[in-house]
Amino acid sequence: MITGKNYIGKELSAKGSDTYHTFDPKQNSDTEWVFHQATKEEIDAAADKAHDAFQVYKMFSGAKKATFLEAIADEIEALGDPLIQAYTKESGLPEGRANGERGRTIGQMRAFATLLKEGSWVEATIDTAQPDREPMPKIDIRKMLLPIGPIAVFGASNFPFAFSTAGGDTASALAAGCPVIVKSHPMHSGTGELISSAIIKAAERTGMPDGVFSNLNSSGNEVGQQLVMHSKIKGVGFTGSINGGTALYRMANDRKEPIPVFAEMGSINPVIILPSALAAKGDDWAKQYAGSIMLGAGQFCTNPGLIIGIKSTGLDGFIATLGKEIEKLEPSCMLHPNIHKNYEKGKKELSVQGGTDTVAAYESNVAPNVAQQKVLSVNGSNFLKNPKLHQEVFGPFSIVVRCADASELQQVLDKLEGQLTGTILGNEEEIKKYAKIVDALQGRVGRIIFNGVPTGVEVCPSMQHGGPFPASTDSRFTSVGTSAAKRWVRPVSFQNWPAESLPDALKDENPLGLSRIVNGKHTDAKI
Ligand code: NAP
Repeated sequence: MITGKNYIGKELSAKGSDTYHTFDPKQNSDTEWVFHQATKEEIDAAADKAHDAFQVYKMFSGAKKATFLEAIADEIEALGDPLIQAYTKESGLPEGRANGERGRTIGQMRAFATLLKEGSWVEATIDTAQPDREPMPKIDIRKMLLPIGPIAVFGASNFPFAFSTAGGDTASALAAGCPVIVKSHPMHSGTGELISSAIIKAAERTGMPDGVFSNLNSSGNEVGQQLVMHSKIKGVGFTGSINGGTALYRMANDRKEPIPVFAEMGSINPVIILPSALAAKGDDWAKQYAGSIMLGAGQFCTNPGLIIGIKSTGLDGFIATLGKEIEKLEPSCMLHPNIHKNYEKGKKELSVQGGTDTVAAYESNVAPNVAQQKVLSVNGSNFLKNPKLHQEVFGPFSIVVRCADASELQQVLDKLEGQLTGTILGNEEEIKKYAKIVDALQGRVGRIIFNGVPTGVEVCPSMQHGGPFPASTDSRFTSVGTSAAKRWVRPVSFQNWPAESLPDALKDENPLGLSRIVNGKHTDAKI
């Protein structure tokens, strides 16, 4: 049942008088659910509980924390249809997408549980003492990764499950040993409350301390900002707009004790289509890209917003087919009237820039909040002159840039800001022939793709989801895949520490059977 209350640890609480509704974009009306915005007192209570819970939770073994994550996955599954109904109502996304995203969220939780049970991710590194070393004896030093403390998580509007309440940020922080306080997304607070109830049930069932998880409602910036500024919060995970992410990043850096903010923000995900791809499969790529641009009403951070090629009849053919194919596709409902309004505004603004031509524009009548797709094209020289054309338009929108030659294509890449992904469509010989272009692309992205589409982000240890600013605030880390846990830990060295008091990961006997680096060599043996 959706109560509209906050979870302060396991307590449901509604002390404040400020309330808001979530919105059903398909019905174009408020939902029946009323949410109580968290008060300052409730924020403090959640932070105090998280602080206390941390002292206990951080001491739990990986295996015990894994039972918690597995229980979360089970409890989310047990929520059944009402969860799917809340998701579709608050997001306008179809049931198939809801089911797929729930599967991904549950799979993600279980993947972190597996990581914890194996345990080697803590990077135990041991340099044993050499008492006889000349001219100075060498002391025993052992290092591993330890959790940083309570984390504030800002869920994404476009992934109510996989990047929100129990999404990658929450799963990775809990796996790392950090309690989590979620700032619920105002567009899907009902879905968030149901998921929170599953996390709280799982915490109680597996003996986790009260305060290991809290969920605060808010519509407006205040609650999130108070959370980021709270002295008991030690890190922030965020997915959303460049404005929101950078505002929170700056605030966290201005704190008396600055804390890390891992924000995943905007990206236009450049795609370079090389001559062989145009010659061999131009029409196929055009069809695939029409689908990729339209996926989820274009509301993916990996949406291909920029396609770049060298002027040729092949490129003209590609552009014509892309236009034809994308106009055939049915437009779909966006997440919220504000996102739809932003989409329409961005689309209009870019469409009137000098030198742009319309390739495709869906113009039939549509229901409220439905995004009509659009594709523009522009010459390389006009694109280079106009930074407005480099901006993300969040929705089913893309620009094809027609470059005069490879050198202009390289200049276009050099002008782009950091991106989550970059794609090359071509053949293996072209990867060598256009090595400078490939290198320029690689320098700007977190994931470089050969002959594929950027939408669809596999959750696995080798995934990098994060790129140079403004794609994310720290390109050294990923927000997808099990490596995401590395954002919430810091290395600590134990020097000359009594053997018995060392963490299990660093003990001579290697009781957890971890893969470690001992005196410079990878090994899972005892010392
Ligand atoms: P958003 O406006 O950045 O909001 C994300 C979360 O951050 C919300 O919970 C919001 O809370 C909070 N927030 C935003 N600015 C804040 C600030 N200055 N101080 C404190 N809290 C702040 O993103 P959104 O609602 O998901 O979508 C809006 C736009 O973001 C979209 O139109 C799109 O352009 C972009 N977006 C991009 C991606 C991507 O992956 N590239 C994904 C999603 C959205 P409140 O609303 O309660 O303040």
